[in-house]
Amino acid sequence: MKKQRLAILGSTGSIGTQSLEIIRQHPDKFDVVYLTGNSNWKLLAEQIQEFTPQKALIATEDHLDDLKAVAGNTEIVTGADYLPELASSDDVDTVLNALVGFAGFDSTLAAIKAGKKVALANKESLVVGGEIITEALKKSSAELIPVDSEHSAMLQCLVGENYDEIEKIIITASGGPFREFTKQQMQNVTVQQALKHPNWSMGAKITVDSSTMMNKGLEIIEAHWLFDIPVEKIEPVIHPQSIIHSMITFIDGSSKAQLGLPDMKVPIIYALSHPERFPLETPRMNWQKAQKLTFEPVDYEKFPCVKLAMESIEAGGYASVVLNAANEVAVERFLKEEIGYIQIPEIVEKSLANIQWNDSLDPETLKEIDKETRTFAQSLK
Ligand code: NDP
Ligand code: MG
Repeated sequence: MKKQRLAILGSTGSIGTQSLEIIRQHPDKFDVVYLTGNSNWKLLAEQIQEFTPQKALIATEDHLDDLKAVAGNTEIVTGADYLPELASSDDVDTVLNALVGFAGFDSTLAAIKAGKKVALANKESLVVGGEIITEALKKSSAELIPVDSEHSAMLQCLVGENYDEIEKIIITASGGPFREFTKQQMQNVTVQQALKHPNWSMGAKITVDSSTMMNKGLEIIEAHWLFDIPVEKIEPVIHPQSIIHSMITFIDGSSKAQLGLPDMKVPIIYALSHPERFPLETPRMNWQKAQKLTFEPVDYEKFPCVKLAMESIEAGGYASVVLNAANEVAVERFLKEEIGYIQIPEIVEKSLANIQWNDSLDPETLKEIDKETRTFAQSLK
């Protein structure tokens, strides 16, 4: 079998490092061609030494020389602007986009235009540019496979099904660390508390997004674009154990669910092996051990970000760009302890109320809206 030639964008992050663990299990199936990091040059250096890619990119220039000194035959490049070039290179079959935030969009689009298989962890790509990406997919031989566990679950439930026969998508959410907090308790949430997710170990941004449930909002937008399903047909439900990763109900009343331990390696390998399955050594569910799977409705008052995200789709494509940029800024400011926890949804809401866009969207205008929103969200007290 020919090896899949991989570009791993964001290899030093949570998804990136877990994807390399999978690749270690399958040296006969994958060839790591490109690796990229932003600030963690030491980890990138270790990865270069182990996987000997053709090229590695460090987005920030600070440690370029340190990296070059230990890179052996790997060519080192710098600058985030160069990411889309790597994502569309002839040397690559599959792009795993594990970048975080708006910064991932250009690479997703470039990879799709170049006809690559794209394993997409960077959900923000679809949040900001869902329409542009789905249009590009229609004109290309590219494949877009989600890495996000919920969307991987949806895709797995939809194998062999007709998308017209979907009645509803039930997207599960753990509810995060503050599911049982009162609104009063939410006022005093600290950075340390927000960075502690009950079930998953992830990068800082998505961990905070999970705690505010903005992550579920972003994922509803992601599902809308991936499966061409109207938002009214996507129903979030709290499932604190994170065992059922999502469900599909069909028009005959039958529902399918995909289950497993909360372990991102499973959806990552599914995206890489799709439409096949590759073996994975990772802990399995113990079905003999008694446990409960429970469900409860989302409290939209306590977690306003879910509704803000759902409403942004109805308002038009630009509103999801505003939502995303305002959220990125608010999360960053919260992590720097510049603002309080409950200001995160407030900043998003104020940005949505203040920034409008009437013209059609293209990659350049997305950047304009993103920039304008960041300036506004940064200025809010
Ligand atoms: P991390 O923060 O752990 O990793 C992000 C990666 O992107 C790192 O390699 C980082 O480099 C790099 N990076 C950050 N900013 C930039 C930038 N401006 N330009 C170029 N590279 C940059 O994030 P996660 O792995 O947790 O998440 C990645 C994506 O996957 C997100 O979109 C997230 O929502 C999604 N996702 C993550 C899950 C998880 O379990 N972690 C689950 C489902 C989805 P460095 O570290 O060197 O600074
Ligand atoms: Mg998810």
